[in-house]
Order: sequence, then C-alpha cells, then structure tokens
Amino acid sequence: MVEFKSVTKSYGSVNVLRDIDLKIDAGEVVVVVGPSGSGKSTMLRCINALEKISGGDLIVDGLSVKGKTSDIHQIRLEAGMVFQQFNLFPQMTALENVMFGPLQVRNATRAEARDLALGLLAKVGLSERANHYPSELSGGQQQRVAIARALAIKPKLMLFDEPTSALDPELRHEVLKVMQDLAAEGMTMIVVTHEIGFARRVGTRLLFMDNGGIAHDGQPAELIDSPPSARLQDFLKHVA
Ligand code: ADP
Ligand code: MG
Repeated sequence: MVEFKSVTKSYGSVNVLRDIDLKIDAGEVVVVVGPSGSGKSTMLRCINALEKISGGDLIVDGLSVKGKTSDIHQIRLEAGMVFQQFNLFPQMTALENVMFGPLQVRNATRAEARDLALGLLAKVGLSERANHYPSELSGGQQQRVAIARALAIKPKLMLFDEPTSALDPELRHEVLKVMQDLAAEGMTMIVVTHEIGFARRVGTRLLFMDNGGIAHDGQPAELIDSPPSARLQDFLKHVA
C-alpha cells in the first residue's frame, strides 16, 4: 500500500527525513511514536503529497508522489488524513462537513452524499449531532466528525497525526474507540500518537522515529515491554 524507497526530506540545510525505507501492506495498523521534531508529521505529509520529498521515491497504492498531477490527485483521494486540530469547516454543520468531500471530489448527488454522511455519522456515534455546528460539539465529537469526513472520500488508507493530543483525557477514548473499530474492519492505518495503550492494543506494528530515521520497527508489545535501546526506554518513560 505504501513504500518508501530511500526517501529524504530536507528544509534548506535541515534534514528532516534521512533515507527512509519502509513497506506497509494493506490491513496493517502502523503506530508511529517518537520525540517531538523527529519527523513523524513530515513522514505522514509526504505520503499524501502535502509535502514534496527531496530524494528517493514514495509509492502509494502503485502511484508515485513524484508522478503526474493526476496521480497526486488520486493519492490524495486514497489517503484520508485526520489532524490534531480537527480542521472542520466552522460554518457547516456536522452533516455538511461530511457531505462536502463526496460532493466536491466524488461527484456524488446531494441525496447520495447525504445518505453516505448519515451512515458515517452513525458509525462514529453522532447521529443525533448531524445538524450541529462544530462550535456546538465537544472536541471528541468534532474529531469523530473529522474522521467521518475523511472516510466519506472512501480512502484506502487513513493517516492520523496525533488525533487525540488536543483533547482532554476523558474525551480521548471515544476517538480511540472509533479508530479501533476502523482497524477491526481492516482499514490500513498509519497513526502518529503518544497513546501507548492504543499502540499495544490495536497496532499491528510500531515504529519509533528518532532524528529523521526509523530507529525501531517491530511488534508493539515486544518493543514496549522490552525496549531495545535506551532512547526508546527513555521515550516510553516520558509518555507513559
Ligand atoms: P514531529 O511531527 O515528529 O514532531 P515534524 O515532522 O513536524 O516532527 O518536524 C520535523 C523537523 O522538521 C523539525 O525539526 C521541524 O522544525 C522541521 N520542519 C517541519 N516543517 C517544517 C517547515 N515547513 N519548514 C522548516 N522546517 C520544518
Ligand atoms: Mg508532529
């Protein structure tokens, strides 16, 4: 589904991704952890071509992020993204937010988009909030709308960048539950998070990023229970 081939990314003289090689298969739930500034967000943003890679190649479902404009457009449709700040359209209701993608980029009719959106809002447990505006929803509810909105494009891959970091601790579980359900349905997911419990419970694979590289790549429980380096051990102590 995703293949990094010696990918590098730099901003001027700062190397943010250093020679990343990584293959992710369909159905994997890859949890990415690592210190702030280690390149986690940049790695995600390169996958859906929000950032241009500086070297190497990056293939998403058979298409290169260095390919034609139409390929990049296709990659963006296939890779749904959920951000730390929910980024909902404030002037649209929850329902309108979820209908937006299908209407704009999937050429759905209003009736089709509405049916799809209502189904997705039910899936994330927000049927009764369909006609509420983001300002009338809790952070956890807004993030669940954001997940429904990303799913409405019918992505093959979901990218999550610290989806619970902006939430009060008591609201995190409702978002993590929706993500867990999505994983159980077989969605391919790459999740940047500090939620080590989620990594262990839901992740099929854990990556530890450090200084622009993948320092460890393995089974979540193994890496968490027996960290192979002092760096990871120290990191886990700080997020636990
Ligand atoms: P993480 O998500 O792991 O905290 P990021 O991918 O956001 O890390 O950032 C990795 C490094 O790249 C940091 O040193 C950050 O300052 C730098 N960086 C990120 N975006 C930009 C940018 N647009 N311009 C310059 N430097 C950036
Ligand atoms: Mg980040």
